[in-house]
Amino acid sequence: MIPFNKPPYTGNEDKYVMSAMRSDKMSGDGEFTIKCHKWFEENLGCKKVLLTPSCTQALEMAALLLNVQEGDEVIMPSYTFVSTANAFVLRGAKIVFVDIRPDTMNINEELIEAAITEKTIAIVVVHYAGIPCEMDTIMDISRRKSVYVVEDAAQGMMSQYKGRALGTIGHLAAFSFHETKNYTSGGEGGLLIINDVKFVGRAEIIREKGTNRSQFFRGMIDKYTWVDIGSSYLPGELQAAYLYGQLEQSEVINAARLSIWDSYYRGLKDLTPHLIELPIIPDMCAGNAHMFYIKVLNIEVRGIILDILKRDNIGAVFHYIPLHSSPAGRKLGSFHGDDKYTTQESERLIRLPIWFGMTELEIQCVIESVRKAIISYSR
Ligand SMILES: *Cc1c(COP(=O)(O)O)cnc(C)c1O
Repeated sequence: MIPFNKPPYTGNEDKYVMSAMRSDKMSGDGEFTIKCHKWFEENLGCKKVLLTPSCTQALEMAALLLNVQEGDEVIMPSYTFVSTANAFVLRGAKIVFVDIRPDTMNINEELIEAAITEKTIAIVVVHYAGIPCEMDTIMDISRRKSVYVVEDAAQGMMSQYKGRALGTIGHLAAFSFHETKNYTSGGEGGLLIINDVKFVGRAEIIREKGTNRSQFFRGMIDKYTWVDIGSSYLPGELQAAYLYGQLEQSEVINAARLSIWDSYYRGLKDLTPHLIELPIIPDMCAGNAHMFYIKVLNIEVRGIILDILKRDNIGAVFHYIPLHSSPAGRKLGSFHGDDKYTTQESERLIRLPIWFGMTELEIQCVIESVRKAIISYSR
């Protein structure tokens, strides 16, 4: 059996987790959290980051920071995870879904402007599969129309758009360290990235239950108190310790994933474009091999291919059901313009196993199995 995912593990995680367990401080913002913050600020070249217990909670913080109010509109793709929408729905926003581009599965930047109204407060972009959205166009719209941009970069750590790390381009951004992502903080975890410094002070307060405790710890004030709304958005030190072990090995993990991605690409390329389609990485962008997908003719063919792969013990899976067609999505959002590609392309997509530590034999086994399935079906 070749599973779809295995959580990444590089070797030092146990040591660091053990050290956090034996320290006198296991609650948030201890030694390992500080080490992680420093790593991100240096490696991403960004102003400020804050570890969170999940990407979902980093997105919730973003919605709080933008002061999203009842009736505000937030533009996003429908082809995404529920948390992209929920974070803003929790603040009373109405979700406006915009169609995706068939080549990258990302929001079609050309369709965003027409969806903007006086009520639009933000555009939330999702870098699907770690492949960058067209950020120059999107940031230009943001400036001209005075709307914020939040990057849901849950899948995007280590990817680059024109030399800039994903997560450092929008006003705010979020990473996920869930065990299905490229780097994990021991199962669940996330990061809020703050690129617009005006949000820094309030972000620290919101994350500390609405208190100015962070300033207190830095010795900037002599007692701390309740100053704003907030919640508990700090992860414990065990999560941070696990993550730090992965950050130290981030280049190793990234290189290994890219190499698997390349093997799949080379092994399946000759089946394009007639039998399958493969992911496209736009010019001047670098992916992080978060995902390797193929696209087949339609949902019927996908069902057949997935059955064959299942019989071969290959953990291949489909992905998101578009949010606008879900029970909650129908109630809480609406699709702007035509759904030309969102449903159609989502129904064609199959994700192949990809994880740190996959052996060459396992990779070749997946390639063989996919080739056999596709070729036998097409005869
Ligand atoms: C994984 C994911 C999330 C949620 O991340 P958690 O850390 O599990 O909360 C949000 N958005 C996208 C696009 C994701 O892939």
